[in-house]
Amino acid sequence: MARPAIIRKTPADLPVPPNLVDYAAVRAAFSWAAARAELAGLPGGALNIAQEAVERHAQGARRERVAFRFLSDDAVRDLTFGELSRLTSRFANVLAALGVARGERVFVLAGRIPELYVAVLGSLKAGCVVSPLFSAFGPEPIATRIRLGEGAVLVTTDALYRRKVAAIRAQLPSLRHVLLASESGEADAVAGTHDLAALMAAAGEDFATVATQPDELALLHFTSGTTGMPKGAMHVHDAVVTHWATGRYALDLHGDDVFWCTADPGWVTGTSYGIVAPLLHGVTSIVDAADFDAERWYRILEEQGVTVWYTAPTAIRLLMKAGPELARQHAYPRLRFVASVGEPLNPEAVWWGKEVLGHAIHDNWWQTETGGIMIANLPALAIKPGAMGVPLPGVEAAIVRRLADGSVEPVVDGGDGELALKRGWPSMLRGHLNDAARYEKCFAGDWYLSGDLARRDADGYFWFVGRADDVIKSAGHLIGPFEVESALMEHPAVAEAGVIGKPDAVVGEVVKAFVSLKAGHAPGEALRLELLAHARRRLGAAVAPKEIDFLTTLPRTRSGKIMRRLLKARELGLPEGDTSTLEGGA
Ligand code: ATP
Ligand code: MG
Repeated sequence: MARPAIIRKTPADLPVPPNLVDYAAVRAAFSWAAARAELAGLPGGALNIAQEAVERHAQGARRERVAFRFLSDDAVRDLTFGELSRLTSRFANVLAALGVARGERVFVLAGRIPELYVAVLGSLKAGCVVSPLFSAFGPEPIATRIRLGEGAVLVTTDALYRRKVAAIRAQLPSLRHVLLASESGEADAVAGTHDLAALMAAAGEDFATVATQPDELALLHFTSGTTGMPKGAMHVHDAVVTHWATGRYALDLHGDDVFWCTADPGWVTGTSYGIVAPLLHGVTSIVDAADFDAERWYRILEEQGVTVWYTAPTAIRLLMKAGPELARQHAYPRLRFVASVGEPLNPEAVWWGKEVLGHAIHDNWWQTETGGIMIANLPALAIKPGAMGVPLPGVEAAIVRRLADGSVEPVVDGGDGELALKRGWPSMLRGHLNDAARYEKCFAGDWYLSGDLARRDADGYFWFVGRADDVIKSAGHLIGPFEVESALMEHPAVAEAGVIGKPDAVVGEVVKAFVSLKAGHAPGEALRLELLAHARRRLGAAVAPKEIDFLTTLPRTRSGKIMRRLLKARELGLPEGDTSTLEGGA
């Protein structure tokens, strides 16, 4: 189906009150220093994420407003800003009583339970560095990360500890304290650990936020591991300035919003936008403990009156796969803004949002390394389906080519090159854990090099081409997997597509696609031929896949990204490499 290349906003679509209707003016007037001045800060130029996210509201008019609404199968638990302040102070006092010092690392490993959110914010308040892990990690990825990060404290649950940590504890010499939240609600002492609830009950509610410096380490985040072994990205308290500005300009958060970020805090999106950004704006966040379930998600959107929804392409594709009827059993009159991050968002998915939820989906781009949203289809600007959007205020982005001497040169608009960002935004990573050489290699002069290939159009919108590692070289053409995957997804039977280059003696690489199908469609030779023909029509013979295989699901990281390197390794019978972040793996 032919669809317009641009979705213009009507007055009804525009944010109220407008955050940046006149984008050019906002961009011209913006500076990081001015954004920083919107935050309260601490005496002497100190800055602490927890102070801005929690204390500022707890001491003010928002004290009684719900900060987090935790949903689980059998209960709803609200925490107001005032309660969050008291609990995080207790947690900071617990750390102090255990002799955990400023700058020491606290790892958190739990489902989306209140204790995790309190531990993250309480640790920041205490001046400790937080590193979140996916609760679904097996023992090995947990051990590797705690060892690399020299974790002094681990906050987890009794059940997770028994299943995953007890056996590896002896291999973690840096780990002095393990604090257990009890999943059953019964304090049940486990040797060598502390009962978190008991320590919290004994701790006081007064704690003066540690006056961390803006460039003091705050968060240690491991990347998704889509292209290889996950890297530890180091972020400082000043990142809060990016969280504030992007919450305002990319997600359009206002004080009366009900915001739902579906990302798990084990992934950077789940902390930057699942914890920090909404709190900065005094917004109520929905946190659902359960895993993805299409019916449940539609129900949450409706029943909780979600106004701003931030999710990921993989979830959107799963909702599309479940069919539109399910979505139509619910209504979303309060929803006004939907955004997505993590992978390229196929134009089909942008339109699906418009047709099924009543709101086209705003794609945006960033990385663990950037700490916050850098490029976005902004609330007040027209959406170009398939484009990542334009740089946020304060962000300078360019398409560059690396030269042999290590410097870079700009690529003219319309040409493919590496997406680069001008150094200096507050949430820029300040190092790769224990890997200074890798950090150095990310920069060419003033430019941070993202490792993603993209192009910029004449209107200044950026288009994702592919990860540098995934780009396919076939008969002299450079082929971005995203373009091929998006074309396949236009076919009504296709739910998901992953495309790789398969070595070929004649043309270098041939394009091979793996697809999973929507409900009601079955794999078969006729469909395969139909898809091959559809892709050839859409893309031309040089770019279209030569081979298509059907899979029930595609291999994904826990943050929802298609692992093309795994599709390729399996296709070629090569070792699978690091699979610690593979969904459904150990
Ligand atoms: P690793 O670096 O370990 O291989 P990863 O790059 O998947 O894993 P993240 O930092 O979670 O780890 O993901 C950032 C990457 O995700 C980006 O560099 C980009 O490749 C992809 N990405 C994120 N958002 C988008 C988007 N809107 N469009 C296209 N790609 C995106
Ligand atoms: Mg990456």
